[in-house]
Amino acid sequence: MTQNNPLLNAFEMPPFSKLKTEHFKPAIKEAIEKAKREINEITQQNNPTFENTIAALDHAGYDLERISQILFNLNSAETNEDIQQITQEVSPWLSDFQNDIMTNAELFEAVKQVYEQKDSFNLNPEQQTLLDKHYKSFVRNGANLNKDKQAKLREIDNKLSTLSLQFGQHVLAETNAYQLHVEHKSELKGLPENVLESAADLAKNQDKKGYIFTLQYPSYVPFMKYCENRKLRKILALAFGKRGFQNNDNNNEEIVKSIVKLRYERAQLLGFKSHAEYILEERMAKSPKNVNDFLDDLFSKAKPAAQKEFDELSQFAQEIDQIDQLQKWDIAFYAEKLKQQKFNLDDELLKPYFPLNQVIDGVFLIAHKLYGLSFKEVENIDKYHKDVKTYKVHDEHQNFKAIFYADFHPRAGKRDGAWMTLYKNQFKTKAKNERPQVSIVCNFSKPTKTQPSLLTFNEVTTLFHEFGHALHGMLGNTQYRSLSGPSVYWDFVELPSQLLENWCYEKEALDLFAKHYKSGEPIPAKYVEQIKAAANFNEGMQTLRQLSFGLLDMAWHTTNPKEIESVKDFEKAAFEPTRLVDDVKENCMSTAFSHIFQGGYSAGYYSYKWAEVLDADAFEAFKNKGIFDTETAKAFKTHILEKGGTEEPMILYKRFRGQEPNPEALLKRAGLLKP
Ligand SMILES: [Zn+2]
Repeated sequence: MTQNNPLLNAFEMPPFSKLKTEHFKPAIKEAIEKAKREINEITQQNNPTFENTIAALDHAGYDLERISQILFNLNSAETNEDIQQITQEVSPWLSDFQNDIMTNAELFEAVKQVYEQKDSFNLNPEQQTLLDKHYKSFVRNGANLNKDKQAKLREIDNKLSTLSLQFGQHVLAETNAYQLHVEHKSELKGLPENVLESAADLAKNQDKKGYIFTLQYPSYVPFMKYCENRKLRKILALAFGKRGFQNNDNNNEEIVKSIVKLRYERAQLLGFKSHAEYILEERMAKSPKNVNDFLDDLFSKAKPAAQKEFDELSQFAQEIDQIDQLQKWDIAFYAEKLKQQKFNLDDELLKPYFPLNQVIDGVFLIAHKLYGLSFKEVENIDKYHKDVKTYKVHDEHQNFKAIFYADFHPRAGKRDGAWMTLYKNQFKTKAKNERPQVSIVCNFSKPTKTQPSLLTFNEVTTLFHEFGHALHGMLGNTQYRSLSGPSVYWDFVELPSQLLENWCYEKEALDLFAKHYKSGEPIPAKYVEQIKAAANFNEGMQTLRQLSFGLLDMAWHTTNPKEIESVKDFEKAAFEPTRLVDDVKENCMSTAFSHIFQGGYSAGYYSYKWAEVLDADAFEAFKNKGIFDTETAKAFKTHILEKGGTEEPMILYKRFRGQEPNPEALLKRAGLLKP
């Protein structure tokens, strides 16, 4: 069995062509057993040291990691019913295994011994970080608590996972339960043809006449943006805002209150003041005070700009439609109209300048100019689909750096969106610097018989974004694999990706690749100016909106739950400073705020803005000396990209920049401060 299973024979590259779906389960089972033996060996040591305990723990389960990476990556990029089924079956095995490690008292004892004698081991900063990381992962999971408190903690964790699941199921049920049925096209002026088409298809599937709109984003968002019928916009917006807040079985008010109460209790049990304090211990931002100061500072700068934009929008709506008072259901609609009037920047106008192959060559060239990398397409690497491209990456001294997979076009088995992932992480052994295998997966439109694949500007920035993550992976140069590349705190992980997007707005960079696919003519300067201006359109209002979510999230996770009675009143008070339109009393955002009550963004919503501040400030360093300045690029590479999570992000950042990030660069770029 083992001999015939390519996953159980040592492999350097994922052996896609030899893989059968039935190989995964036995391979994962056996890899888990192997990992258990490795953990066992650690606990058998009489004299725990950094090497035999912490470094060994970091390396334990390496085979399991590589096999699971293949399975989970395939499940996202090239899945089918069998793969989905296997993924569902093995996921509990993996979480049980993780749980066994985290509750292994002998193992924690060994880790703790090393931690308590850490000064005697003469550790370098990366080793200290690794030790801290492993020690804390136990402690944050209750390893230092007595048995009673540990039991209490498990009970809280179990309740929380049930409640988050319920929260999500309720939002989903509410989203799916609602439909807006419109019989006549005459009521739907303004909606683009493709939106109408999907709505007509939906109606047809239910044997109904006319059009059906739903609360799912692909239906809801364009409806609010384009539908001229204000009454219908109001109906749909109110339905959207009622999710989880109606008098029915899907009401989430009590669940919200229970979740924040349990999170608070758990934080207290572990010795933290609040859930936010617990979460932020492992973030670049570090403390609730830092996050709130950060949000307040941006708020004070964005509020005047937002008010001005809102007044302009109000006047515009008054002029064209005699709207006296903009409401919640008007903002997206008039903002879109005003944007079109001001910029008239059509996707179709820009697409001919961005054929996919030129954009790829462009991003490779930029990586070459900045970091000395070169990309050579190779055919002899096993792929999971014929459309995948494979490259070998070398540095300027012809040292091999990474394997790069690029998978650009949509397929039935691929999920939506774009992402970067790894098939192998970088790390060092005594003998060798093991190089990573990095992949980006996107959903760009395919070439046709008459046209190459032409990207929208949004797709161009997406490609640069994912490629920025990929550089973080490719250039990793750390000792331990759990600290390499993008394995960093999550309010730091978007710096390399968002930073690279900045080159898409620079004429000097665009001239390298943005040429008309027929005439070869470079993109006109006036288009570039328009792209920049359009990107900043309504930036004040957008910022205020993001800040309002960040402030609400922080309010939920820093307040003593005893002080919270009504979900709606609590939310209304938190929104008050950032509110531009009237509150709608039958609507509530918190009861459908899945980011923080279902997913993992609790006390983390601020990270979106945080990352923008970082990338704008970092790009300013480039702009000051030229966007291809090799000294600046070298500093970014050595202090950030190569270092992964080996030290505190603020320390790394200051080494690159010479100072802490300053929000002014973002405010300037966004046009919220006069340059
Ligand atoms: Zn990203």
